[in-house]
Amino acid sequence: MLWVEIDWSICHECRKCLAKPSCPVRAIVKPDPDEAAYIDLDRCYGCGKCVHACPFSAIQLIHVNRSGKGCGAIIR
Ligand code: SF4
Ligand code: SF4
Repeated sequence: MLWVEIDWSICHECRKCLAKPSCPVRAIVKPDPDEAAYIDLDRCYGCGKCVHACPFSAIQLIHVNRSGKGCGAIIR
């Protein structure tokens, strides 16, 4: 199964996440300009559009197990 993760060692923590508008199901969450963005895996279906939208290549497609539990796909 394909999902995505934001690599926070690469992410610039832009005040306005430039990849966020690319997500058709609003799975990229950035609650506050000063907080890091993360992927809501309950919404994400792995289309990959956000991967191309981040100008810093901080979002990567990953393979996760079928349940998605314990996969570490959301990292801080
Ligand atoms: S994921 Fe990309 S666009 Fe979004 S805050 Fe991080 S570096 Fe910026
Ligand atoms: S892979 Fe698709 S659904 Fe998942 S966060 Fe990126 S744009 Fe949204």
